[in-house]
Amino acid sequence: MVRRVTIFGSTGSIGCNTVDLIARDRAAFKVVALTGARNIETLARQARDLEAEIAVTAHTECYGDLKAALSGTGIEVAAGPEAILEAAERPADWVMSAIVGAAGLPPGMKALEQGRTLALANKESLVTAGPLLMETARRHGATILPVDSEHSAVFQALIGEDMEAVERVIITASGGAFRDWPDAKLATATLAQASAHPNWAMGQRITIDSATLFNKAMELIETREYFGVDPQMIEAIVHPESLIHALVGFRDGALMAHIGPPDMRHAIGFALNWPDRKTLPVARLDLAAVAQLTFRAPDETRHPALRLAREVMAARGLAGAIFNGAKERALDGFIAEQIGFLDMARVVERVLAKMDAGRHMGPEITLAAVMAADSEARRLAGEEIETLQG
Ligand code: NAD
Ligand code: MG
Repeated sequence: MVRRVTIFGSTGSIGCNTVDLIARDRAAFKVVALTGARNIETLARQARDLEAEIAVTAHTECYGDLKAALSGTGIEVAAGPEAILEAAERPADWVMSAIVGAAGLPPGMKALEQGRTLALANKESLVTAGPLLMETARRHGATILPVDSEHSAVFQALIGEDMEAVERVIITASGGAFRDWPDAKLATATLAQASAHPNWAMGQRITIDSATLFNKAMELIETREYFGVDPQMIEAIVHPESLIHALVGFRDGALMAHIGPPDMRHAIGFALNWPDRKTLPVARLDLAAVAQLTFRAPDETRHPALRLAREVMAARGLAGAIFNGAKERALDGFIAEQIGFLDMARVVERVLAKMDAGRHMGPEITLAAVMAADSEARRLAGEEIETLQG
């Protein structure tokens, strides 16, 4: 049966990989909506190539360009955040959530309210609103499939298993661009240095988040929210080769590891074809050539993001939205070269303390409360950035 698909954030790193997989298996899919932001040329090309029903840009000022780029094709064109939400209401079987940042949450929620299968790459959704997202999926009979490589790996290791038998969940971290730098040098890390990942090709924001380990911090929170396991059962381990993506430990002592090349098309393709497994164009590992896999414990003093994630997991409620909003604003500040590399964690820690994140305890949250906490956290982070700039 042909699967009707919509891709939020089709022009990004995850989006383009998703488009690539669909283009290789055209007969199996009917493309409903594709959405992007300012990269109109890519969006228009994807819409033509995949014969999408509608292409949507997040920016109303880009409407004219998109309209012109698709004139004569019969493909509908729309613009603005509301238009993205409307696209989420179009009938589809499978929806990819690959917008970067908290902006990805509302369209994902809308897709869940329609009972869709949501392939979730946007990690901010589970970090900011995990309990709300999972509850919305339950209420509307929707399915969420994790796309982040670690969570896809855990999901796959759990197929056919009883959650009662799970003792621990271990997600791996490459260690990011600075894993071999001495502590003293980290403060001098530049934007260009932080934007180069040793193993994975990804969008700039997640690449910098890998260097600070904020990416891993978010993934710890995602693991807690998606799989419903206690925070004490979740570990992160530095694994520089990025070949094992996650391991699940069972009460009989067995560890089931998921191993494969660092290529997001595996996790995306797994979700795209689920529950089937289809042939995917990813490299096959030659274990003799790999020869060895190494691991080391992460240093939480060197990487405060991991410690902050533990606090967020303990508090839940709006703590995740505050953590994420402050982190996104701090990252904007680093990208604008207003603050240094180590300042990002300082900003997040101060905003969490200022908003007294622990006060917002408990799993009950609404989308409106999440969005309000997000903007207040961004505002306070902006103030902290100004203070740091002196
Ligand atoms: P990216 O920056 O390459 O792409 C982001 C996409 O979102 C683009 O299509 C862009 O046009 C769109 N977009 C940006 N701002 C928007 C806005 N305000 N409103 C609507 N659309 C907007 O990002 P990416 O690396 O593909 O990551 C996407 C998401 O997936 C992130 O949440 C990231 O953390 C997560 N993720 C990425 C990877 C990876 O390998 N790249 C792996 C795991 C998880
Ligand atoms: Mg990941």
